[in-house]
Amino acid sequence: MAKILVIADIRQGVLKGSTAELLSKAKAVGAETAVVAIGSNIESLIPDLANAGSDTQYIADDAGLELFSAGPYASCVVDAARQFDANLVWFSFSESGKATAPRVAAQLDAACATEITDVVLEGDQIEVVRPAIANKVMQRVKVNTDKLVAVVRAGAFEATEGISGTENVVRLSPPASDLKAVIRELISDASGEIDLSDADIVISVGRGAKDQAGVDLVKELANDLKAGFGSSRAMVDGGFMAHNKQVGQTGKIVAPSLYMAIGISGAIQHLAGMTGSKVILAVNKDPEAPIFNVADYGIVGDLFEVVPILREEIKKIRN
Ligand SMILES: Cc1cc2nc3c(=O)[nH]c(=O)nc-3n(C[C@H](O)[C@H](O)[C@H](O)COP(=O)(O)OP(=O)(O)OC[C@H]3O[C@@H](n4cnc5c(N)ncnc54)[C@H](O)[C@@H]3O)c2cc1C
Repeated sequence: MAKILVIADIRQGVLKGSTAELLSKAKAVGAETAVVAIGSNIESLIPDLANAGSDTQYIADDAGLELFSAGPYASCVVDAARQFDANLVWFSFSESGKATAPRVAAQLDAACATEITDVVLEGDQIEVVRPAIANKVMQRVKVNTDKLVAVVRAGAFEATEGISGTENVVRLSPPASDLKAVIRELISDASGEIDLSDADIVISVGRGAKDQAGVDLVKELANDLKAGFGSSRAMVDGGFMAHNKQVGQTGKIVAPSLYMAIGISGAIQHLAGMTGSKVILAVNKDPEAPIFNVADYGIVGDLFEVVPILREEIKKIRN
């Protein structure tokens, strides 16, 4: 039976839904499941970790692990993977996951695959599916080792209702500190805005909005829907949006329930960051805009007319 170790995605003391998504998939493929949770003061998360679908919880709880640092975090994951004898180690999609996964793979002498969207297990054979060439094709990759460390693409797996695990806690000793890189401070986005990676709805604005007034108009729609507010690279390059709001190949990859692309053409580099969304709505005045090829709903029109109507209609439904 496959043994899958999932790395708990904990941010500011909160267990993210992606952990349950990965554990659900692990259970669905019939694997034995474990989770490793790394941080400071995280003992209270143990029931949640079991409820999310893990049958063993490896806990590395130490004041020195409060701030993410790839070296010590990798040591904790490797320790848990060896104790559990995992043949698959899964990270959810995050900067910290992407930084830690290759270190873990090197130490475990395992293969490493990023952005996987599916996994197929047949006996000892592991195959993964992942996008390539900026999402133009999906590759099915045969792994030539018996161990795989993978980073799972945001939104690739769904949490299954009713799945749960059992509490079986193993405490890990804190790793030696990493003298090569010491994290002094974590500077987070202080804007108080909804994090795009966590948002259930993301509304992104593109060059069609023209200027700050256009951006503000679309932002009001995002505020109405309590949505994360993102953008295409054109608006970042134009100085209207911060870089951490960029969606796409060189920005964030998002997979919300609803993604609205407002005044965005749908360049392949933008699509690379949002086609995993469950429902896509596009507003564009050009009926030939490539964004309509991936949209579930398309509104051909001038965003300066369409957005106020959308806001009005949403207000009516809410009332
Ligand atoms: C290496 C590399 C990496 C890149 N990474 C990214 C990335 O991560 N994310 C990203 O987004 N881009 C990325 N790009 C840039 C990408 O190629 C596009 O240039 C960019 O996405 C275009 O942004 P846009 O759709 O807002 O602008 P445009 O392509 O200029 O499209 C604007 C759209 O708005 C429509 N429009 C105009 N006026 C209105 C109106 N009044 N009402 C409604 N619609 C209107 C137009 O019809 C048009 O379709 C990258 C490029 C390269 C080379």
